Amino acid sequence: MKFMTAALCAVLLVASLPAVATDPVVGKLQRKIAGDPYPEYLATTLVNEVGPRFAGSDGYEHAVLWALQKLSAAGLKNVHAEPVILPRWERGETSVELVTSSIDSEPLAAAAIGGSVGTDRYGIEAPVVRVESLAQLQQLSVAQVRGRIVFIDYRMPRTRDGSGYKQAYPVRASGPAEAGRRGAAAILIRSLSTANDDVPHTGGTNYGDAPKIPALALSNLAADRLSGMVRAGGADVRIKLRTSEFGAAYSSQVVAEVPGETGEIVLLGAHLDSWDITPGADDDAAGVAIVTGAARAIMRYGKKPKRTIRVVLFANEEFGGSGARAYVEAHAGELDRHVLAMEADIGSGPVWRLDTRVPLQAEYFRRAVLSALAPYHIEDGPRDANGGADLGPLRRAGVPVLAPLQDTTRYFDVHHARTDTLDHLDRDGLRQNVAVYATAAWIAANWAEPIGRLPAETAGP
Ligand code: ZN
Ligand code: ZN
Repeated sequence: MKFMTAALCAVLLVASLPAVATDPVVGKLQRKIAGDPYPEYLATTLVNEVGPRFAGSDGYEHAVLWALQKLSAAGLKNVHAEPVILPRWERGETSVELVTSSIDSEPLAAAAIGGSVGTDRYGIEAPVVRVESLAQLQQLSVAQVRGRIVFIDYRMPRTRDGSGYKQAYPVRASGPAEAGRRGAAAILIRSLSTANDDVPHTGGTNYGDAPKIPALALSNLAADRLSGMVRAGGADVRIKLRTSEFGAAYSSQVVAEVPGETGEIVLLGAHLDSWDITPGADDDAAGVAIVTGAARAIMRYGKKPKRTIRVVLFANEEFGGSGARAYVEAHAGELDRHVLAMEADIGSGPVWRLDTRVPLQAEYFRRAVLSALAPYHIEDGPRDANGGADLGPLRRAGVPVLAPLQDTTRYFDVHHARTDTLDHLDRDGLRQNVAVYATAAWIAANWAEPIGRLPAETAGP
């Protein structure tokens, strides 16, 4: 045994597992959820009654009240708010213009990247230095960049498994800091968007200790226009951007439970906040509907589970993750009783793969979940799942995660943009997600054996 690799151990263990008998409650949950309009109703009311709900805004406070009321109405127990401190940032006037002659200019559709500093009231006008990737920017010297407007012209590819976003993400996360370190006056990026339209997409960035420069994302069409002009001989751009930062805001996130018989917890998470410029239907009203819908279905159609199923609607996933950190601090004394966590934050597309990160001793459990999900033809995925941003602190503490991977083919057409509206929701996909989450949560909450822990991580994403 000593000389076997973990992979070989897993193969031998799996080969010796008995066949999985599925709990009859699973079939009942799946049948009931298939015809249940509740998840769509819930996402619709969050978008229509609350709308944009950016951390620190009045919209977010409205969302907290909405959540307290809806989780209670869903029949969940122990519904309550927990304190969170939120950053506060607001965008104001935003204008990006291609300077086409000494007397003429042409507007380019743009949105400030979250947390961006503004320009002074006269704005910035400078020549553009275009690169096609973050790596190309990193190869430029200060002399090549100083005083100019950097344009990272990287087009995010459309993928089913979200890998296109992973590839593009560093452009927005690190591009502004890399340009700032080289003395750039400002940075423009091509939006992390798969739609060929004139809608800019926002998102977060990390300036780190670099000088903070105005950072904006152009729509794909605006980026095409600028790209063409630069390649045809060069272009100047004029940027005016007003943004404001205020002190921290004291706010809340919302927790509710399907009470179990033991003190152990299976956590289902989604984020209640959205970016400021979007109604956030797919990101993340869909996730709120998936985890709430799953817990509500178990409450109505299941029996009392062995372990408690806890729904956490996290504050501020988008602008720094302070909600996820506040949860782990507030629940430090019971982290070892969190046996499993799942997060829903990839929109409403159907689940097609189950990524996991569970200890070897939970292999039979893992297979039981996959077996119960057979009606949805879900593939067995990688076993090093990240689990999602709001589960980061829990995962690093050693809590096992299941991460249903949704089809992201259409998700990034609207992600973090004003076009993330209800008409874009995948209604059938939403119901399938609820069934997947309810199935996995029910099995985890009633699994007779311990699921076990993973070693705590000292660092990681
Ligand atoms: Zn999200
Ligand atoms: Zn988001």
